[in-house]
Amino acid sequence: MADIYNFSAGPAMLPRAVLEHARDELLDWHGTGMSVMEMSHRSKEYIGVATQATADLRTLLAIPDNYKVLFLQGGATSQFAMVPMNLLRGCTQADYINTGAWSKKAIAEARRYCEVNVAASSADSNFTTIPATAGWKLNSAAAYVHYTPNETIGGVEFHEIPDTGDVPLVADMSSTILSRPLDVSRYGLIYAGAQKNIGPAGLTIVIVRDDLIGEVLPGTPTMLDYKTHADNDSMYNTPPTYGIYTAGLVFQWLKKNGGIAAMEEVNIAKAQLLYGAIDGSGGFYHCPTAPADRSRMNVPFTLKDSSLDGDFLKQADAAGLLQLKGHPRSAACAPRSTTRCRWKACRRWSPS
Ligand code: PMP
Repeated sequence: MADIYNFSAGPAMLPRAVLEHARDELLDWHGTGMSVMEMSHRSKEYIGVATQATADLRTLLAIPDNYKVLFLQGGATSQFAMVPMNLLRGCTQADYINTGAWSKKAIAEARRYCEVNVAASSADSNFTTIPATAGWKLNSAAAYVHYTPNETIGGVEFHEIPDTGDVPLVADMSSTILSRPLDVSRYGLIYAGAQKNIGPAGLTIVIVRDDLIGEVLPGTPTMLDYKTHADNDSMYNTPPTYGIYTAGLVFQWLKKNGGIAAMEEVNIAKAQLLYGAIDGSGGFYHCPTAPADRSRMNVPFTLKDSSLDGDFLKQADAAGLLQLKGHPRSAACAPRSTTRCRWKACRRWSPS
């Protein structure tokens, strides 16, 4: 295995120990003579794998008993629709917080199903900040409040859980789940595509309070109803078996390595090192996000002299630091947006 650091936000690096473990049992899982990839999802062996993965995730995040853990497909993007379809429960309005590219996508999709009230937005700062919760204009008639705790492209992160009273809080945790301790009981629903912080692409995890399940919009397809999956242990149809198995290996690795509290320490140290280098570079590097709202998980930065970009990326590649090209929609591009966004010319960019 080449010694490289892959900075892609997702699909992203997995712990080497997890890949080695998967490699060692790729052809023959526990003496069955079969790969997990080849197993029936109804076999007792596979059901054991899925049950263990669920139990380990429950332990890692201390998920209360009145929450279901669902293993779904369709990515976080499908949740942009499934959330309103399932959580409106007779209401016609929902609150959304707009902190950047992924919030906007969630808002656009929700507008197909309900009246969206954007209760707060950081558009004024070009999404380089988090709007202070004191100024949020929450609507007491909203069925839920949706926010994106970590904006993968913009690189801003909430460091506190917002208080929405009795209105269920819904979070797109695609790029922050498992990176820091989480009080699940503060949420109505949490969702995340697996490919960033959990495991391979193709698996989507939903953690949902059970009283919110079971009252979908009329016409909701069976597969988009959380109840279908909750009632069938996420096996109503064929689940992404190998993705669930690999995610399970990641959960075991996290448990063995000190759990989420230990991951948070590592993530704080890594973020401090990186932001410190950027801020201490005498302006050579620039990070557009407000220091108090900076993400520990996604750190956008540019070079002051953009004519050095090509050399920087070439030398980074040669040093084994891969996928450092930013996202075309990152606020990091904004200072140069009066000319042509330099990322437009890129054929290879980190997909977010
Ligand atoms: N939300 C966030 C915060 C993301 O980072 C992403 C992926 N880039 C998505 C949603 C979309 O996820 P998926 O590709 O799994 O649909």
